[in-house]
Amino acid sequence: MIGLVNYARDPHSVELRELPVPDIGEDEVLFKVEAVGICGSDLHQYTGKQSWQVNYPVVLGHEFAGVIAKAGNRVRGFKEGDRVVSETAAVLPADSAFVRQGLYNLEPKRLGFGYGVNGAMAPFVKVPARCLHLLPSALSLEKAALTEPCCVAYNAVCVNSRLRPGDTVAVIGPGPIGLLCALLAKLAGAGHLIVIGIPADSHRLDVAKKIGADTILGGKGEDVTEWVNNFGDGYGLDLVIDAAGVSASLKLALDIVRPAGQITKVGWGPQPLNFSLDQLVQKAVTLQGSYSHNWPIWEKVISLLASGKINLEHILNRVSPLTDWHESFEEMHSGRIVKGVLRP
Ligand SMILES: [Zn+2]
Repeated sequence: MIGLVNYARDPHSVELRELPVPDIGEDEVLFKVEAVGICGSDLHQYTGKQSWQVNYPVVLGHEFAGVIAKAGNRVRGFKEGDRVVSETAAVLPADSAFVRQGLYNLEPKRLGFGYGVNGAMAPFVKVPARCLHLLPSALSLEKAALTEPCCVAYNAVCVNSRLRPGDTVAVIGPGPIGLLCALLAKLAGAGHLIVIGIPADSHRLDVAKKIGADTILGGKGEDVTEWVNNFGDGYGLDLVIDAAGVSASLKLALDIVRPAGQITKVGWGPQPLNFSLDQLVQKAVTLQGSYSHNWPIWEKVISLLASGKINLEHILNRVSPLTDWHESFEEMHSGRIVKGVLRP
């Protein structure tokens, strides 16, 4: 089979390679990949700018949907032909306290598809059955491939944030995760929803408008803090989601969050802060991290995708064969499309 392999840390060390179809163990399935989303993290590995360790060479891709081609003989609850999606924690230590708590997303020794073990940008990938979720027939496999990033956003907005209907919410960084956070904030009852970017984000800010943002800021170089100071009662916003991850975005979040409000940080990067956290203290702000997702989140997101309540119409902009990976990667990298899906 032909898979998309990231073979070294040097920028652009990604190519299509001939690979063997994987052998599966008793508790695993051979997963026929029908659709695989391109993630910001695939692009980071493509450009060699990731802040995590990669087991080179590795097949990219961790956002995928497809069909079970073969099930190991101890697999229960799933059979050949089932339409499924897979979670991302491919390898977990058996003695993990976090696995026992159902918080395997926070287990430091876990390994994920696409960096730790071979991922899904190939016709087949081997997947432990515990990672699988069945898909309702109403949900297409292209859309189902985006369950994973929707789960990242659901965890940030609906689990790790305190968001009540009517709360004012800002999302900083209109990349795929930021836009999905905006979508879920709307669904969770955000009162006034603001999406903040920079001039290079102008296309993605237009998408933010289409998915229900009440205000978009930053695309024309507006002064965001001044705008917020003149908004509503002038105290700032109830919830700020930082989906950008650079130092300046956390600084902005602290400037625009209201006293006793919350900042949820889902964007990350190696850049040091280089500013004072005094506002965090003085405003008594809750600063909350959010990472990955776990089983109950997947079940909720699958039902929201199947019912159309999470509407990907403006997010999923390109479906193409795996052989067109380069153009899709570049289109996403440049921001011309929000999200691309490849079909191996
Ligand atoms: Zn992802």
